[in-house]
Amino acid sequence: MKIAILALQGAFEEHRQMLLRIGVESFFIRNANDWQQHKDALIIPGGESTTMLKLLRDLSLFDSVRDAILSGLPVFGTCAGLIMLDSNHLGTMNIDAKRNAYGRQLGSFFTEGDFKGIDRKIPMTFIRAPYIASTGEGVDVLSIIDGNIVAARQGKQLVTAFHPELNDDTAVHEYFLKMINE
Ligand code: GLN
Repeated sequence: MKIAILALQGAFEEHRQMLLRIGVESFFIRNANDWQQHKDALIIPGGESTTMLKLLRDLSLFDSVRDAILSGLPVFGTCAGLIMLDSNHLGTMNIDAKRNAYGRQLGSFFTEGDFKGIDRKIPMTFIRAPYIASTGEGVDVLSIIDGNIVAARQGKQLVTAFHPELNDDTAVHEYFLKMINE
């Protein structure tokens, strides 16, 4: 198993560390050449979605990434990665993300919450995070914090508004692995 991590910008190294800890090989996608390598799944990290979107287009990666996901490549988007998959960006998931959704005061916070499919509370670090304002057909809501949807799944696509790669708990990455193997 080999997982590609989009490494144009943002918290990509933290995902690599997380995957190392659960014994999964990964490599970085920095350009269209890297994209050609064999991959069993893709991670889109947190960062700044406007910058990431621009880089995806500038590097001519936008269409290849979207087509691969629509053809069934499993994908896990965290924070800005969640925004990238929503209907206004790559458009592969039937979700609408609300950016910087918690206002200035609550933009960044830590909590522990329930996550459907993981049978204990998991740590959740939010950094100028989005939430999912609405979901459409085929979307399964996995976590709700203070009334806002912060994790969801649609087929082989997984998104979290928080950053599981910034805490010690590997549960969400392991959940993604299970998804890939289903
Ligand atoms: N606020 C960022 C955006 O809108 C997301 C923040 C993050 O990924 N930590 O893209």
